[in-house]
Amino acid sequence: MFLSLMLAAALVQADSVDVLVRGGTVYDGSGRPGRVTDVGIRGDRIVFVGDAAQAGVSGVRTLDARGLIVAPGFIDPHTHSLEGLPFLGEERRRNVGALMQGVTTVTIGSDGRGPIQVARVMSASEQAGLGTNIYTLVGFGTVRVRVMRLSSAPASAAQIDSMRSLIDKAMREGAYGVGSGLFYDPQSYATTEEVIAVVSAAKPYGGVYDTHQRDESSYSVGLLNSVREAIRIGRESGLTTNLGHVKALGVDVWGYADSVLRLMREERARGHMVVADQYPYTSSATLLSSALLPRWTEAGGRDSLLARIADTATREKILAEMRENLRRRGGDSTLLLINGPGGFGSVNRDDAARAYIGKTLRQVAGERGTPAVETALEMIRAGFDMGVASFNMNERDIETFMKDPFVMTSSDGGAGHPRLYGTYARKIRSYVLDKPVITMERMIQSSSQQVAEVYGIRERGSIREGYFADVIVFDPKTIREQATYIEPAKPSAGMRWVLVNGRFAVDDGQPTGALAGRGLKKR
Ligand SMILES: [Zn+2]
Repeated sequence: MFLSLMLAAALVQADSVDVLVRGGTVYDGSGRPGRVTDVGIRGDRIVFVGDAAQAGVSGVRTLDARGLIVAPGFIDPHTHSLEGLPFLGEERRRNVGALMQGVTTVTIGSDGRGPIQVARVMSASEQAGLGTNIYTLVGFGTVRVRVMRLSSAPASAAQIDSMRSLIDKAMREGAYGVGSGLFYDPQSYATTEEVIAVVSAAKPYGGVYDTHQRDESSYSVGLLNSVREAIRIGRESGLTTNLGHVKALGVDVWGYADSVLRLMREERARGHMVVADQYPYTSSATLLSSALLPRWTEAGGRDSLLARIADTATREKILAEMRENLRRRGGDSTLLLINGPGGFGSVNRDDAARAYIGKTLRQVAGERGTPAVETALEMIRAGFDMGVASFNMNERDIETFMKDPFVMTSSDGGAGHPRLYGTYARKIRSYVLDKPVITMERMIQSSSQQVAEVYGIRERGSIREGYFADVIVFDPKTIREQATYIEPAKPSAGMRWVLVNGRFAVDDGQPTGALAGRGLKKR
């Protein structure tokens, strides 16, 4: 009797874990329904999944997760929240907005602006301290600007060689693929063939061609041709194609979600993987200039733009095209001026710009007594190139995309838009709990394991023994986003515990300030 007690005590000791998450409904990330079970964490790893009492596993600290949901930490494949690393201050590096909605890993390489010096950025960022893990894609835009500056000319053979060698270097250093933002100047000047010639340098390493595609609307080649281009670039480069923040932007392409998904499906049937990610808001965020200016006006940079505006004939041509761009987006009442540059290098003057925040372009134009596009052009000219929330999507397309098994979750988070702090909580609250567009297991899969699989992020994204302990526990009764267009930096509610690499980043609903994140490199 005494001996067996001693033996039992020894076993418990041997099976003691640092943190035992007890009695929660565990969604493991695979897309299977949740089941009530326990999760044990030792050091930075998940070491136990099962019935802790039966297996004699005890925790130094036990979290009572009864009635709560336990899931893998979410991985955000498209966000601008940590753009600028490793040179961000500690507050930004903590990434609390992400953590408070359960995001434990984010990319820093969206829209073709990811770094070339991947090893250096990863180690310097980790050393400075990170609230979440990070990974990156090497930026086609970064590489093109490094080699060609802001040139709108086609790349020469020598320039393509130089760009390829930069991509090769970044991939060797641990990038998870290549990102592009062909909508944006100067990436928009690259032809399909140039992009293929450059990004195919990543082929030996595999990975993802992730793109803010050339046209999400009817600006240039049109949404469907743009999707075809993105698919072709991935196929001919030997990379998985990911359509970043997939959407049907503007009235001309509303209802096109089915057609986009069909193109993706047909391509997968031919053996090339094509996926997408999406945020659950009907408004996108960009700059006034990006939304309304024709791209050709930006060639050569801001001085060239100002010269074009100053020329009367050119100015008329600009205004005519801006009118068309405004119509496409839904008119002057659908552009809401918001805080922050959104990460696109605005020339905002913060204090003076504040007067515009929360007003629509229609309101500002009314106050000034000038037509909408002239108001916008004058603001851009005067250095008030504000962030805008552009209400240009419809709910039906959003739901159609969301229901597709190859569409993941992303925030596309940047300053000023509530999606930075609200995406994941909102998707759970609005599209799983309030209106069952998708199931909880699908929501969690599309935000964790699926992202890890697409990008090749190993040993994360699942509740599985041996995996890194990026684990979240939230209350389905209270989870919701609190960020709004007026208060975009309000953390989400309902996240009870968030562990990053086994350390508490959120404890009993409060951020701890722990800097437990790591710079991940593709192996
Ligand atoms: Zn983008």
